[in-house]
Amino acid sequence: MNNNLIAVYPGSFDPPTNGHIDIISRASIIFPKVIVAITHNQSKEHLFPLEERVEMMKKSTRHLKNIKVDSFSGLLVNYLDKIGGFVVIRGLRALADFEYEFQMALMNRTLNKKIETVFLMPDQEYTFLSSSMIKEIAILNGDFKKFVPPVVYKKMKNKKGI
Ligand code: ADP
Repeated sequence: MNNNLIAVYPGSFDPPTNGHIDIISRASIIFPKVIVAITHNQSKEHLFPLEERVEMMKKSTRHLKNIKVDSFSGLLVNYLDKIGGFVVIRGLRALADFEYEFQMALMNRTLNKKIETVFLMPDQEYTFLSSSMIKEIAILNGDFKKFVPPVVYKKMKNKKGI
């Protein structure tokens, strides 16, 4: 039992969606402290730069007191080592997520045997939601307002090329 348990929810969050916020809310009830760790991956094409993803996530989780937003580059296991965490939160939407998530959880545990990955299921209304789908709907001029936090909606509406 560890009362100072830090849970880390890593992801690219490009952009944050209501599905992500649902998972973060659930994690904040279970764990005393949750760090949303946004990946800084130079080889991946992002719609929003890291600073904007961090800012959107901070604003979207302001109502949750035990949440901190941070970013990292490189391997998750090294980041966990740095902050002294060993619990990873991931969201599981459907069977399609399972294989990749299973592989990653086991690889992380192989890299550091202390690491435990905890999977949380979102409310069923978010099980079909993904950042890439939001981007696609936005580019094709569809209404995506109900799928993302208000700050993300505003930011996407103001984005050139969307
Ligand atoms: P990554 O690039 O690491 O997959 P994402 O930002 O796409 O990052 O997702 C971060 C985590 O959130 C992953 O565990 C993913 O399965 C989960 N996730 C994404 N969308 C949803 C959703 N609608 N409901 C629940 N979990 C989700």
